[in-house]
Amino acid sequence: GNALLSSYGTTIFEVMSRLSEEHGAINLGQGFPDDRGPADVLQTAADALLQGWNQYPSMMGTPDLRQALAAHAGRFYGLDVDWKTETMVTSGATEALTACLLGLINPGDEVVLFQPMYDSYLPIVRLAGGVPRFVSLKAPDWSFSRADLEAAFSPRTKLVLINDPLNPAAKVFDRAELELIAEFVQRHDAFAVCDEVYEHIVFDGRRHIPLMTLPGMRDRCLKIGSAGKTFSLTGWKVGYVTAAPHLLQPVAKAHQFLTFTTPPNLQAAVAYGLGKEEGYFTGLAAGLQAKRDRLAAGLASVGFEVLPSAGTYFVAADIGRFGFDGDDQAFCRWLVEEAKVAAIPVSAFFVENAPTGVVRFCFSKRDEVLDEAIARLRNRF
Ligand code: PMP
Ligand code: GLN
Repeated sequence: GNALLSSYGTTIFEVMSRLSEEHGAINLGQGFPDDRGPADVLQTAADALLQGWNQYPSMMGTPDLRQALAAHAGRFYGLDVDWKTETMVTSGATEALTACLLGLINPGDEVVLFQPMYDSYLPIVRLAGGVPRFVSLKAPDWSFSRADLEAAFSPRTKLVLINDPLNPAAKVFDRAELELIAEFVQRHDAFAVCDEVYEHIVFDGRRHIPLMTLPGMRDRCLKIGSAGKTFSLTGWKVGYVTAAPHLLQPVAKAHQFLTFTTPPNLQAAVAYGLGKEEGYFTGLAAGLQAKRDRLAAGLASVGFEVLPSAGTYFVAADIGRFGFDGDDQAFCRWLVEEAKVAAIPVSAFFVENAPTGVVRFCFSKRDEVLDEAIARLRNRF
């Protein structure tokens, strides 16, 4: 096989989900909700399928979804987006990320990555010939300093890849942090690829701030979203990129050779969904915030040191208090085999400077499932 890709094992999400099945565990590892998603969005997809929306749509996406994306950007962020030149639909955020990195990086270009980072970032940066430069965020507050950015940026920096809200740390970057990143991106005449798949999943009255909305950043950012997260339909793999034409064009060159298109009936449903009333979006966050609180309280009650979760499907927890003999990977193996609850070791999101004892739990599950998971843990600790 390809030497670079062969050097990676199977992604931790697949490994833990299969172990979870094997051991009859409750799967709080891989991030996906267990509810069915909004019925009207599902109905729209079913109708579109039966009405014949089943052939290749335009490679940039269906006009109705692209218009809905531009309207969404205006409605939530005050962005003025031209749907014809500044939006593109992809097969999931994963493809959007891949198209952005393959489309923008030339061999030898440096790419600034924040650790913890989502599993597909580094392999694709490397496939594109990019040179990774890391900023390591440290638990429990996952902060970074000006000096950290000084050390990571250089005259060869082509782009920075930022995930906000951040999986698995459940961090939401504040305006001051975004301003600091924006300052470095502009000083180095670089771009930012912004993975904002959890844009509508932020808690406690916070508001998600796209880096693209900061002064001077409108034409330096590629903003990525995912219908999987916004409509609790992760299997659909409908993603999207919003960016200035000069950035989107090279990304479209990669997209046309990756997937080219995305199922049109799903695009019709996502176009409909993005136009849903305000209450849908606030309800999504409020519902997940209640689940966060439920799982966090349960984890704390059995002895985990629960870290703050400001957004995403996830809460991270420190295992230090258990005095477990082994690292977070060993702990997660033990947990799935013995307690029959699956979680994800946070060190899987690092190549260096990983925290030793932090694990990630997914709370986008029915309350009974969360309660049963806590009951299982209580039996073990
Ligand atoms: N980025 C992050 C940070 C994620 O957590 C995920 C998880 N699904 C993705 C990208 C991939 O999204 P999609 O399923 O739309 O490809
Ligand atoms: N984004 C999901 C997570 O972080 C997993 C997606 C995947 O399995 N690749 O758990």
